[in-house]
Amino acid sequence: MNDEGEDGGADSTAAPEAMDGLAVEGCTRCGALVDSRSQIVNGDGPADVDVLFVGEAPGANEDEDGVPFVGRSGDVLDDELADAGLARENVRITNCVRCRPPDNRDPTSEELANCRPHLEREIELVDPEVVVTLGKVPGEHLLGRDVAVTNETGSVERVDLGGSPRDVLLCLHPAATLYDASQRDAFRDTIETAATMAGASGGQSRLGDY
Ligand code: SF4
Repeated sequence: MNDEGEDGGADSTAAPEAMDGLAVEGCTRCGALVDSRSQIVNGDGPADVDVLFVGEAPGANEDEDGVPFVGRSGDVLDDELADAGLARENVRITNCVRCRPPDNRDPTSEELANCRPHLEREIELVDPEVVVTLGKVPGEHLLGRDVAVTNETGSVERVDLGGSPRDVLLCLHPAATLYDASQRDAFRDTIETAATMAGASGGQSRLGDY
């Protein structure tokens, strides 16, 4: 967890400010993102789930709707969740940073660090069986190393998150399947792995692969 480098002068010793349960309100730690966002996009889904998905940052659709993973990428994710026996209503989806970066650029390392306490607190409160990273940026952010997500999708690593050791499952971003249809099987397999790890009925066990 890292409260260093906050643009908005937040109290680094405090719990994430204005966090009402799982929702962050009024955070101004990232000056550039405060200027570019329409709203803070908090995590979506119940608080007591076994699977927590973590993406990179809100895009234009998410910034407008206030919900992570909507639009075409969200449709791909929803379809594969349903096929794996994991209804979207039964998982939680959040992002490494909760405010849309301007021009859809990647979040900076400072912005990722600024928002990390919010994410850590969300993981602590949700206490999922598995954290699934959607794409390269969240994979590298949570594992703290370089990730070749195309090759590593489906792999699991134990990481301290939200105050406890947790299984992190690396996964492609659903948009990768829109750019390259050949990635769809790997994405589907990884979502099925998440279902298996969470004990969902639709997942076919491949725990022996870990
Ligand atoms: S990205 Fe996170 S830390 Fe930065 S302003 Fe938004 S809510 Fe605050």
